[in-house]
Amino acid sequence: MKSFEYYRATSLADSTAAVAGRENAMFFAGGTTLVDLMRIDVLAPDAVIDVTALGLREIEVTDEAIVVGANVRNSELAWHPAVRERIPALTQAILSGATTQIRNMATVAGNFLQRTRCPYFRDVHSACNRRVPQSGCAALDGFNRGHAVLGVSEHCIATHPSDMGVAAALVDAELRTLNADGTTRVISVTALYPLPGDTPHIETVLERGELITHVVFPTPPLARRSQYLKVRDRASYEFALASAAVAIDIEGERIADARLAIGGVATRPWRCIDAERSLIGKPAAETSFREAAAVALTGAVAQHHNAFKIELAKRTIVRAFAKVTEVAR
Ligand code: SF4
Repeated sequence: MKSFEYYRATSLADSTAAVAGRENAMFFAGGTTLVDLMRIDVLAPDAVIDVTALGLREIEVTDEAIVVGANVRNSELAWHPAVRERIPALTQAILSGATTQIRNMATVAGNFLQRTRCPYFRDVHSACNRRVPQSGCAALDGFNRGHAVLGVSEHCIATHPSDMGVAAALVDAELRTLNADGTTRVISVTALYPLPGDTPHIETVLERGELITHVVFPTPPLARRSQYLKVRDRASYEFALASAAVAIDIEGERIADARLAIGGVATRPWRCIDAERSLIGKPAAETSFREAAAVALTGAVAQHHNAFKIELAKRTIVRAFAKVTEVAR
């Protein structure tokens, strides 16, 4: 591992200035991604700015939202009574990720900034446009069973790995940030990640030194009836092949409102607005869910090994809706 400078920030302004003022400095909180990638030389910052002494550990519950400090641990958020009651899909998504030990260390803000699990990204001897701009993409002609089918480009087909991000997209979560010049802004989770296009190395819209301070999870009434379903190769400590976060409001036999976001198949947490609209007014039945699933996967592009993900994602969506509506299949 390359040697680096360690700096423990004592104020928010201190931390943003420290990162903004150095070209190759990075924030450090739980360290569950950063340290991992430093050990295999994928990341080699000159300076690591520790923000764990800055507080940002509160979970505030209002009538409309749950406001979460950036340094809240994933486990704390998952088990918070308000989250379990008002957004069960968020609890399920967090608990489906990683392991208990990692969830106890990893922070909420860090979860949104975790890097792809594409094996070629993690191998410094492979071509990877995301790691080294314009170096190529080994996954395109390589083993791409786990790669994305939505939001892809001819320069990168890596999936976004976050489970929490999918549940966050479901409820239109927003990030509050602080810049080194003292300005703040609010970024929706779905707007945080540009599609890879021909610049896959630009993974978020955050500027250098811009620090996530809070994540705001709105709690619309239909989110009380929400579900996260994750399909993967083994039951724990594994990333999604396909996942679906769903929420639904049923009046009588008909769907009054519905939401859908999917993971494991796209280059960012993937909200499916057209599929949601297709469900409004339809019977809460498997045929409706199948039609919505087909809409959600419209435009999917398969590679050599991952075509199965398109059908798998559809089935995951149908099963998640069936589960949340208790429709017998
Ligand atoms: Fe790199 Fe993306 Fe290609 Fe993976 S899919 S090797 S992350 S450019």
